[in-house]
Amino acid sequence: RSNAVSVAPILTKLQKDCATPLPVLRHVADAMAADMRGGLAVDGGSDLKMILSYVNSLPSGNEKGLFYALDLGGTNFRVLRVQLGGKDERVIDTEFEQVSIPQELMFGTSEELFDFIASGLAKFAQKEGGKFHLPRGRKREIGFTFSFPVKQTSIDSGILMKWTKGFAVSGTAGKDVVACLNEAMERQKLDMRVSALVNDTVGTLAGARYWDDDVMVAVILGTGTNACYVEQVDAIPKLQGPKSLSGRTIINTEWGAFSKGLPLTEFDRDMDAASINLGEQIFEKTISGMYLGEIARRVLLKLAEAGALFGEAVPEKLTTPFILRTPDLCAMQQDNSNDMKAVESILYDVAGVESNLSARKIVIEVCDTIVKRGGRLAGAGIVGILQKMEDDAKGIVFGKRTVVAMDGGLYEHYPQYRRYLQDAVTELLGLEISKNVVIEHSKDGSGIGAALLAAANSQYE
Ligand code: ADP
Repeated sequence: RSNAVSVAPILTKLQKDCATPLPVLRHVADAMAADMRGGLAVDGGSDLKMILSYVNSLPSGNEKGLFYALDLGGTNFRVLRVQLGGKDERVIDTEFEQVSIPQELMFGTSEELFDFIASGLAKFAQKEGGKFHLPRGRKREIGFTFSFPVKQTSIDSGILMKWTKGFAVSGTAGKDVVACLNEAMERQKLDMRVSALVNDTVGTLAGARYWDDDVMVAVILGTGTNACYVEQVDAIPKLQGPKSLSGRTIINTEWGAFSKGLPLTEFDRDMDAASINLGEQIFEKTISGMYLGEIARRVLLKLAEAGALFGEAVPEKLTTPFILRTPDLCAMQQDNSNDMKAVESILYDVAGVESNLSARKIVIEVCDTIVKRGGRLAGAGIVGILQKMEDDAKGIVFGKRTVVAMDGGLYEHYPQYRRYLQDAVTELLGLEISKNVVIEHSKDGSGIGAALLAAANSQYE
Protein backbone atom coordinates (compact mmCIF):
# COMPACT_ATOMS: atom_id res chain seq x y z
CA ARG A 1 0.00 0.00 0.00
CA SER A 2 1.43 3.38 -0.94
CA ASN A 3 0.72 6.16 1.60
CA ALA A 4 0.62 8.91 -0.95
CA VAL A 5 -2.63 7.50 -2.22
CA SER A 6 -4.59 7.55 1.02
CA VAL A 7 -2.72 10.30 2.89
CA ALA A 8 -3.25 13.02 0.32
CA PRO A 9 -7.08 12.98 0.27
CA ILE A 10 -7.27 12.97 4.09
CA LEU A 11 -4.92 15.94 4.29
CA THR A 12 -6.75 17.78 1.54
CA LYS A 13 -10.08 17.25 3.27
CA LEU A 14 -8.62 18.46 6.57
CA GLN A 15 -7.34 21.64 4.93
CA LYS A 16 -10.68 22.22 3.26
CA ASP A 17 -12.63 21.66 6.50
CA CYS A 18 -10.29 23.96 8.46
CA ALA A 19 -10.17 26.72 5.87
CA THR A 20 -10.78 30.25 7.15
CA PRO A 21 -11.11 32.46 4.09
CA LEU A 22 -12.26 36.03 4.64
CA PRO A 23 -16.02 35.31 4.39
CA VAL A 24 -15.74 32.66 7.14
CA LEU A 25 -13.79 35.05 9.37
CA ARG A 26 -16.31 37.81 8.73
CA HIS A 27 -19.19 35.52 9.59
CA VAL A 28 -17.48 34.53 12.87
CA ALA A 29 -16.77 38.16 13.78
CA ASP A 30 -20.39 39.12 13.06
CA ALA A 31 -21.74 36.17 15.05
CA MET A 32 -19.45 37.07 17.98
CA ALA A 33 -20.81 40.63 17.96
CA ALA A 34 -24.40 39.35 17.78
CA ASP A 35 -23.84 36.91 20.65
CA MET A 36 -22.33 39.72 22.74
CA ARG A 37 -25.53 41.73 22.27
CA GLY A 38 -27.63 38.68 23.15
CA GLY A 39 -25.74 38.12 26.40
CA LEU A 40 -25.89 41.81 27.34
CA ALA A 41 -29.65 41.91 26.78
CA VAL A 42 -30.56 39.22 29.28
CA ASP A 43 -28.81 36.50 31.29
CA GLY A 44 -28.82 33.34 29.16
CA GLY A 45 -29.51 35.38 26.02
CA SER A 46 -26.69 33.72 24.03
CA ASP A 47 -23.67 31.43 24.34
CA LEU A 48 -21.77 34.35 25.90
CA LYS A 49 -22.42 35.00 29.59
CA MET A 50 -21.22 38.63 29.34
CA ILE A 51 -20.58 38.77 33.10
CA LEU A 52 -20.64 42.14 34.87
CA SER A 53 -17.29 42.74 36.57
CA TYR A 54 -18.45 45.66 38.76
CA VAL A 55 -15.16 47.29 37.78
CA ASN A 56 -16.36 50.79 37.03
CA SER A 57 -13.17 52.73 37.46
CA LEU A 58 -10.04 51.75 35.62
CA PRO A 59 -6.54 52.45 36.90
CA SER A 60 -5.55 56.04 36.11
CA GLY A 61 -1.91 55.97 37.12
CA ASN A 62 -2.59 58.13 40.17
CA GLU A 63 -2.95 55.15 42.53
CA LYS A 64 -0.72 55.45 45.60
CA GLY A 65 0.14 53.23 48.53
CA LEU A 66 0.71 49.60 49.45
CA PHE A 67 -1.57 46.95 47.96
CA TYR A 68 -1.61 43.17 47.80
CA ALA A 69 -2.83 40.74 45.15
CA LEU A 70 -3.76 37.10 45.51
CA ASP A 71 -4.23 34.93 42.42
CA LEU A 72 -5.94 31.55 42.49
CA GLY A 73 -6.58 30.06 39.09
CA GLY A 74 -4.81 26.77 38.68
CA THR A 75 -2.40 24.52 40.45
CA ASN A 76 -0.53 27.46 41.98
CA PHE A 77 -1.54 30.46 43.92
CA ARG A 78 0.46 33.62 43.71
CA VAL A 79 0.79 36.47 46.16
CA LEU A 80 2.18 39.88 45.34
CA ARG A 81 2.62 43.24 46.99
CA VAL A 82 3.23 46.51 45.25
CA GLN A 83 4.09 50.01 46.44
CA LEU A 84 2.45 52.45 44.06
CA GLY A 85 3.84 55.96 43.77
CA GLY A 86 1.32 57.75 41.55
CA LYS A 87 1.82 59.32 38.09
CA ASP A 88 5.52 60.03 38.38
CA GLU A 89 6.89 57.20 40.46
CA ARG A 90 4.48 54.49 39.26
CA VAL A 91 5.54 51.07 40.59
CA ILE A 92 8.10 51.86 43.31
CA ASP A 93 8.60 48.27 44.33
CA THR A 94 6.98 44.90 43.95
CA GLU A 95 7.57 41.42 45.39
CA PHE A 96 5.85 38.15 44.72
CA GLU A 97 5.78 34.51 45.67
CA GLN A 98 4.22 31.43 44.18
CA VAL A 99 3.01 28.46 46.19
CA SER A 100 1.84 25.20 44.67
CA ILE A 101 -1.38 23.78 46.02
CA PRO A 102 -1.03 20.27 47.45
CA GLN A 103 -3.07 17.78 45.41
CA GLU A 104 -5.14 16.64 48.42
CA LEU A 105 -6.42 20.19 49.00
CA MET A 106 -7.98 20.19 45.52
CA PHE A 107 -10.26 17.40 46.76
CA GLY A 108 -10.67 18.55 50.36
CA THR A 109 -13.02 20.93 52.11
CA SER A 110 -13.48 24.61 51.44
CA GLU A 111 -12.12 25.48 54.92
CA GLU A 112 -8.93 23.48 54.33
CA LEU A 113 -8.24 25.16 50.97
CA PHE A 114 -8.92 28.72 52.16
CA ASP A 115 -6.97 28.13 55.41
CA PHE A 116 -4.00 27.06 53.31
CA ILE A 117 -4.28 30.17 51.15
CA ALA A 118 -4.74 32.51 54.11
CA SER A 119 -1.77 31.03 55.92
CA GLY A 120 0.39 31.42 52.78
CA LEU A 121 -0.74 35.03 52.55
CA ALA A 122 0.00 35.57 56.26
CA LYS A 123 3.55 34.22 55.87
CA PHE A 124 4.13 36.44 52.86
CA ALA A 125 2.74 39.52 54.64
CA GLN A 126 5.09 38.92 57.60
CA LYS A 127 8.07 39.26 55.27
CA GLU A 128 7.09 42.78 54.22
CA GLY A 129 10.29 44.82 54.03
CA GLY A 130 11.05 48.47 54.75
CA LYS A 131 10.37 49.57 51.18
CA PHE A 132 6.66 49.06 51.71
CA HIS A 133 4.60 51.52 53.73
CA LEU A 134 1.04 51.38 55.02
CA PRO A 135 -0.44 54.58 56.45
CA ARG A 136 -1.38 54.32 60.16
CA GLY A 137 -4.82 53.02 60.93
CA ARG A 138 -5.31 51.31 57.58
CA LYS A 139 -5.80 47.67 56.78
CA ARG A 140 -3.79 46.04 54.03
CA GLU A 141 -6.07 45.73 51.01
CA ILE A 142 -6.11 42.85 48.53
CA GLY A 143 -7.13 42.40 44.91
CA PHE A 144 -8.27 38.78 44.63
CA THR A 145 -7.97 37.18 41.20
CA PHE A 146 -10.13 34.09 41.15
CA SER A 147 -10.30 32.42 37.75
CA PHE A 148 -13.26 30.12 38.14
CA PRO A 149 -16.83 30.87 37.06
CA VAL A 150 -18.18 33.36 39.56
CA LYS A 151 -21.50 35.16 39.63
CA GLN A 152 -20.22 38.52 40.73
CA THR A 153 -22.55 40.44 43.07
CA SER A 154 -20.39 43.53 43.71
CA ILE A 155 -16.77 44.56 43.24
CA ASP A 156 -15.87 42.68 46.42
CA SER A 157 -18.17 39.68 46.44
CA GLY A 158 -19.10 36.83 44.13
CA ILE A 159 -20.62 33.39 44.29
CA LEU A 160 -18.76 30.37 42.96
CA MET A 161 -20.93 28.66 40.37
CA LYS A 162 -18.74 25.55 40.08
CA TRP A 163 -15.14 24.49 40.40
CA THR A 164 -13.32 23.70 37.12
CA LYS A 165 -9.77 22.75 36.05
CA GLY A 166 -9.63 19.65 38.20
CA PHE A 167 -10.71 21.25 41.49
CA ALA A 168 -13.36 19.32 43.44
CA VAL A 169 -13.42 21.17 46.76
CA SER A 170 -16.53 20.52 48.84
CA GLY A 171 -18.60 23.29 50.35
CA THR A 172 -17.58 26.30 48.22
CA ALA A 173 -20.05 26.16 45.31
CA GLY A 174 -22.94 28.54 45.96
CA LYS A 175 -20.90 30.57 48.48
CA ASP A 176 -19.27 33.97 48.32
CA VAL A 177 -15.58 33.25 47.78
CA VAL A 178 -14.57 36.56 49.36
CA ALA A 179 -16.44 35.61 52.54
CA CYS A 180 -14.68 32.23 52.49
CA LEU A 181 -11.30 34.01 52.30
CA ASN A 182 -12.26 36.57 54.95
CA GLU A 183 -13.32 33.84 57.39
CA ALA A 184 -10.06 31.96 56.81
CA MET A 185 -8.07 35.18 57.38
CA GLU A 186 -9.91 35.70 60.66
CA ARG A 187 -9.03 32.16 61.73
CA GLN A 188 -5.39 33.04 60.92
CA LYS A 189 -5.70 36.35 62.84
CA LEU A 190 -4.72 38.08 59.61
CA ASP A 191 -6.17 41.59 59.48
CA MET A 192 -6.45 42.22 55.73
CA ARG A 193 -9.40 43.13 53.53
CA VAL A 194 -10.43 42.06 50.01
CA SER A 195 -11.31 45.26 48.13
CA ALA A 196 -11.71 43.77 44.66
CA LEU A 197 -12.61 40.34 43.33
CA VAL A 198 -11.50 40.05 39.71
CA ASN A 199 -11.39 37.61 36.83
CA ASP A 200 -7.91 37.13 35.32
CA THR A 201 -8.86 38.79 32.01
CA VAL A 202 -10.14 41.81 33.93
CA GLY A 203 -6.88 41.92 35.90
CA THR A 204 -4.94 41.82 32.62
CA LEU A 205 -6.98 44.70 31.19
CA ALA A 206 -6.47 46.77 34.34
CA GLY A 207 -2.74 46.01 34.47
CA ALA A 208 -2.21 46.98 30.81
CA ARG A 209 -4.43 50.06 31.12
CA TYR A 210 -2.21 51.37 33.93
CA TRP A 211 0.57 51.91 31.39
CA ASP A 212 -1.54 52.75 28.37
CA ASP A 213 -4.85 54.63 28.30
CA ASP A 214 -5.74 53.18 24.90
CA VAL A 215 -6.21 49.61 26.17
CA MET A 216 -9.85 48.65 25.60
CA VAL A 217 -9.80 44.84 25.31
CA ALA A 218 -7.87 42.02 27.03
CA VAL A 219 -7.59 38.47 25.73
CA ILE A 220 -6.06 35.41 27.39
CA LEU A 221 -4.84 32.55 25.20
CA GLY A 222 -3.30 29.91 27.44
CA THR A 223 -4.60 26.52 28.47
CA GLY A 224 -8.06 28.00 27.98
CA THR A 225 -9.22 31.30 26.55
CA ASN A 226 -11.31 34.30 27.57
CA ALA A 227 -11.72 37.99 26.73
CA CYS A 228 -13.04 41.14 28.39
CA TYR A 229 -13.52 44.72 27.22
CA VAL A 230 -14.62 48.19 28.26
CA GLU A 231 -18.37 48.65 27.72
CA GLN A 232 -20.72 51.63 27.98
CA VAL A 233 -23.30 51.01 30.74
CA ASP A 234 -26.05 52.31 28.44
CA ALA A 235 -25.34 49.37 26.14
CA ILE A 236 -26.12 46.79 28.86
CA PRO A 237 -29.90 46.30 29.00
CA LYS A 238 -29.63 43.60 31.68
CA LEU A 239 -27.85 45.99 34.06
CA GLN A 240 -30.38 47.00 36.70
CA GLY A 241 -30.05 49.52 39.48
CA PRO A 242 -27.59 52.38 39.83
CA LYS A 243 -25.21 52.86 36.93
CA SER A 244 -21.57 53.76 37.40
CA LEU A 245 -20.52 57.40 37.48
CA SER A 246 -17.95 56.88 34.74
CA GLY A 247 -20.65 55.47 32.45
CA ARG A 248 -18.39 52.54 31.67
CA THR A 249 -17.65 49.12 33.06
CA ILE A 250 -15.71 46.00 32.13
CA ILE A 251 -17.58 43.01 30.75
CA ASN A 252 -16.11 39.51 31.06
CA THR A 253 -17.38 37.81 27.89
CA GLU A 254 -16.52 34.16 28.77
CA TRP A 255 -16.04 33.83 25.01
CA GLY A 256 -14.70 30.27 25.25
CA ALA A 257 -18.35 29.18 25.10
CA PHE A 258 -18.89 30.77 21.67
CA SER A 259 -19.90 28.23 19.00
CA LYS A 260 -21.39 29.86 15.87
CA GLY A 261 -20.08 29.51 12.33
CA LEU A 262 -16.85 27.77 13.27
CA PRO A 263 -15.25 25.54 10.62
CA LEU A 264 -15.13 22.21 12.47
CA THR A 265 -13.91 18.75 11.43
CA GLU A 266 -14.68 15.16 12.35
CA PHE A 267 -11.64 15.39 14.66
CA ASP A 268 -13.13 18.29 16.61
CA ARG A 269 -16.45 16.50 16.96
CA ASP A 270 -14.77 13.29 18.18
CA MET A 271 -12.62 15.22 20.68
CA ASP A 272 -15.69 17.04 21.97
CA ALA A 273 -17.61 13.77 22.29
CA ALA A 274 -14.79 12.34 24.41
CA SER A 275 -14.51 15.44 26.61
CA ILE A 276 -15.85 15.96 30.14
CA ASN A 277 -17.86 18.99 28.95
CA LEU A 278 -19.60 17.72 25.82
CA GLY A 279 -21.00 20.47 23.62
CA GLU A 280 -19.51 23.20 25.82
CA GLN A 281 -16.59 25.61 25.27
CA ILE A 282 -16.47 24.94 21.51
CA PHE A 283 -14.51 28.12 20.65
CA GLU A 284 -12.05 27.25 23.44
CA LYS A 285 -11.71 23.72 22.06
CA THR A 286 -10.87 25.13 18.61
CA ILE A 287 -8.39 27.89 19.51
CA SER A 288 -6.77 27.30 22.93
CA GLY A 289 -3.61 25.58 24.09
CA MET A 290 -5.19 22.67 25.89
CA TYR A 291 -6.65 21.32 22.64
CA LEU A 292 -4.52 22.16 19.56
CA GLY A 293 -2.08 19.31 20.22
CA GLU A 294 -4.91 16.83 20.81
CA ILE A 295 -6.67 17.75 17.56
CA ALA A 296 -3.39 17.25 15.68
CA ARG A 297 -2.87 13.89 17.41
CA ARG A 298 -6.29 12.72 16.24
CA VAL A 299 -5.49 13.71 12.66
CA LEU A 300 -2.10 11.98 12.78
CA LEU A 301 -3.70 8.84 14.19
CA LYS A 302 -6.14 8.72 11.30
CA LEU A 303 -3.30 9.28 8.83
CA ALA A 304 -1.40 6.43 10.49
CA GLU A 305 -4.39 4.08 10.47
CA ALA A 306 -5.93 4.87 7.10
CA GLY A 307 -2.85 6.12 5.26
CA ALA A 308 0.02 4.17 6.86
CA LEU A 309 1.78 7.51 7.33
CA PHE A 310 4.33 6.00 9.72
CA GLY A 311 4.54 2.57 8.08
CA GLU A 312 2.28 -0.45 8.31
CA ALA A 313 2.03 -0.49 12.12
CA VAL A 314 0.19 2.24 14.03
CA PRO A 315 2.45 3.60 16.81
CA GLU A 316 0.82 2.52 20.09
CA LYS A 317 1.51 5.74 21.99
CA LEU A 318 -0.23 7.82 19.34
CA THR A 319 -3.54 6.31 20.49
CA THR A 320 -3.19 7.97 23.93
CA PRO A 321 -5.37 11.10 24.28
CA PHE A 322 -3.47 14.35 24.95
CA ILE A 323 -0.05 12.70 24.52
CA LEU A 324 0.85 15.34 21.92
CA ARG A 325 0.74 18.79 23.48
CA THR A 326 0.56 22.23 21.93
CA PRO A 327 4.15 23.10 23.00
CA ASP A 328 5.24 20.00 21.01
CA LEU A 329 3.51 21.31 17.87
CA CYS A 330 5.20 24.63 18.48
CA ALA A 331 8.65 23.08 18.90
CA MET A 332 8.21 21.04 15.70
CA GLN A 333 7.14 24.11 13.73
CA GLN A 334 10.36 25.92 14.68
CA ASP A 335 12.44 23.32 12.79
CA ASN A 336 13.38 24.93 9.47
CA SER A 337 16.16 22.50 8.59
CA ASN A 338 16.17 20.41 5.43
CA ASP A 339 16.29 17.05 7.19
CA MET A 340 13.80 18.07 9.92
CA LYS A 341 15.72 16.15 12.58
CA ALA A 342 14.06 18.05 15.43
CA VAL A 343 10.62 17.03 14.15
CA GLU A 344 11.82 13.44 13.96
CA SER A 345 13.06 13.36 17.54
CA ILE A 346 10.01 15.12 19.01
CA LEU A 347 7.70 12.69 17.22
CA TYR A 348 9.73 9.80 18.51
CA ASP A 349 10.17 11.05 22.09
CA VAL A 350 6.59 12.20 22.56
CA ALA A 351 4.55 9.71 20.56
CA GLY A 352 6.94 6.82 19.84
CA VAL A 353 6.59 7.58 16.14
CA GLU A 354 9.31 6.73 13.62
CA SER A 355 9.07 9.00 10.60
CA ASN A 356 10.77 9.46 7.25
CA LEU A 357 11.26 12.91 5.76
CA SER A 358 8.07 12.92 3.70
CA ALA A 359 6.02 11.87 6.77
CA ARG A 360 7.59 14.71 8.80
CA LYS A 361 6.59 17.19 6.14
CA ILE A 362 3.03 16.00 6.35
CA VAL A 363 3.07 16.22 10.16
CA ILE A 364 4.12 19.86 9.89
CA GLU A 365 1.33 20.53 7.41
CA VAL A 366 -1.17 19.06 9.86
CA CYS A 367 0.16 21.18 12.75
CA ASP A 368 0.11 24.28 10.61
CA THR A 369 -3.46 23.67 9.46
CA ILE A 370 -4.76 23.35 13.04
CA VAL A 371 -2.72 26.27 14.36
CA LYS A 372 -3.62 28.50 11.44
CA ARG A 373 -7.33 27.90 11.98
CA GLY A 374 -6.95 28.57 15.72
CA GLY A 375 -4.99 31.78 15.34
CA ARG A 376 -7.23 33.16 12.59
CA LEU A 377 -10.43 32.38 14.50
CA ALA A 378 -9.01 34.06 17.62
CA GLY A 379 -8.32 37.09 15.42
CA ALA A 380 -11.88 37.03 14.11
CA GLY A 381 -13.18 36.92 17.69
CA ILE A 382 -11.14 40.01 18.58
CA VAL A 383 -12.49 41.85 15.53
CA GLY A 384 -16.01 40.83 16.59
CA ILE A 385 -15.52 42.59 19.93
CA LEU A 386 -14.00 45.69 18.33
CA GLN A 387 -16.76 45.78 15.70
CA LYS A 388 -19.46 45.63 18.37
CA MET A 389 -17.88 48.54 20.24
CA GLU A 390 -17.49 50.57 17.06
CA ASP A 391 -21.07 49.92 15.91
CA ASP A 392 -22.35 51.34 19.22
CA ALA A 393 -20.27 54.50 19.04
CA LYS A 394 -18.70 55.39 15.69
CA GLY A 395 -15.03 56.23 15.94
CA ILE A 396 -14.60 54.96 19.50
CA VAL A 397 -12.17 52.21 18.50
CA PHE A 398 -11.37 52.51 14.80
CA GLY A 399 -11.05 56.29 14.71
CA LYS A 400 -8.06 56.37 17.05
CA ARG A 401 -5.32 54.15 18.48
CA THR A 402 -6.85 51.16 20.31
CA VAL A 403 -4.88 48.50 22.16
CA VAL A 404 -5.80 44.85 22.69
CA ALA A 405 -3.75 43.47 25.61
CA MET A 406 -2.84 39.81 25.14
CA ASP A 407 -1.56 37.29 27.67
CA GLY A 408 -1.26 33.52 28.11
CA GLY A 409 1.32 30.88 27.26
CA LEU A 410 -0.08 30.06 23.81
CA TYR A 411 0.06 33.66 22.60
CA GLU A 412 3.38 34.26 24.28
CA HIS A 413 5.27 31.24 22.98
CA TYR A 414 3.78 30.28 19.59
CA PRO A 415 5.06 32.71 16.92
CA GLN A 416 3.09 31.11 14.06
CA TYR A 417 -0.16 31.31 16.01
CA ARG A 418 0.50 34.95 16.82
CA ARG A 419 1.20 35.74 13.16
CA TYR A 420 -1.97 34.01 11.94
CA LEU A 421 -4.01 35.92 14.52
CA GLN A 422 -2.57 39.25 13.41
CA ASP A 423 -3.05 38.36 9.70
CA ALA A 424 -6.73 37.67 10.27
CA VAL A 425 -7.22 40.96 12.12
CA THR A 426 -5.48 42.86 9.31
CA GLU A 427 -7.51 41.08 6.60
CA LEU A 428 -10.78 41.79 8.36
CA LEU A 429 -10.12 45.42 9.21
CA GLY A 430 -8.19 46.40 6.10
CA LEU A 431 -4.77 48.05 6.13
CA GLU A 432 -5.91 51.55 7.07
CA ILE A 433 -8.03 50.72 10.11
CA SER A 434 -5.73 47.95 11.32
CA LYS A 435 -2.96 50.53 11.70
CA ASN A 436 -5.01 51.92 14.60
CA VAL A 437 -5.49 48.55 16.28
CA VAL A 438 -2.46 47.47 18.29
CA ILE A 439 -2.42 43.88 19.48
CA GLU A 440 0.27 43.58 22.09
CA HIS A 441 1.60 41.19 24.67
CA SER A 442 1.07 42.31 28.26
CA LYS A 443 3.06 39.85 30.28
CA ASP A 444 1.74 38.92 33.72
CA GLY A 445 -0.13 42.19 34.01
CA SER A 446 -2.96 40.50 35.83
CA GLY A 447 -1.28 40.43 39.27
CA ILE A 448 -0.46 44.13 39.34
CA GLY A 449 -3.85 44.72 37.70
CA ALA A 450 -5.65 43.13 40.65
CA ALA A 451 -3.63 45.23 43.11
CA LEU A 452 -4.50 48.34 41.09
CA LEU A 453 -8.18 47.45 41.23
CA ALA A 454 -7.88 47.05 45.00
CA ALA A 455 -6.40 50.57 45.04
CA ALA A 456 -9.10 51.96 42.75
CA ASN A 457 -11.77 50.43 44.99
CA SER A 458 -10.06 51.14 48.31
CA GLN A 459 -12.37 51.71 51.26
CA TYR A 460 -10.23 54.67 52.26
CA GLU A 461 -10.64 56.74 49.10
P1 ADP B 1 -2.82 28.93 32.16
O1 ADP B 1 -3.60 29.30 30.95
O2 ADP B 1 -2.77 27.45 32.39
O3 ADP B 1 -3.21 29.70 33.39
P2 ADP B 1 -0.52 29.99 30.78
O4 ADP B 1 -1.10 31.27 30.36
O5 ADP B 1 0.93 29.98 31.18
O6 ADP B 1 -1.29 29.31 31.95
O7 ADP B 1 -0.70 29.01 29.53
C1 ADP B 1 -0.19 27.72 29.57
C2 ADP B 1 -0.57 27.06 28.24
O8 ADP B 1 0.09 27.74 27.18
C3 ADP B 1 -0.18 25.61 28.12
O9 ADP B 1 -1.25 24.78 28.56
C4 ADP B 1 0.06 25.46 26.64
O10 ADP B 1 -1.12 25.07 25.99
C5 ADP B 1 0.44 26.82 26.16
N1 ADP B 1 1.87 26.88 25.96
C6 ADP B 1 2.84 26.94 26.89
N2 ADP B 1 4.06 26.93 26.33
C7 ADP B 1 3.86 26.85 25.00
C8 ADP B 1 4.73 26.78 23.87
N3 ADP B 1 6.05 26.78 23.98
N4 ADP B 1 4.16 26.72 22.67
C9 ADP B 1 2.83 26.71 22.54
N5 ADP B 1 1.97 26.74 23.55
C10 ADP B 1 2.48 26.81 24.77
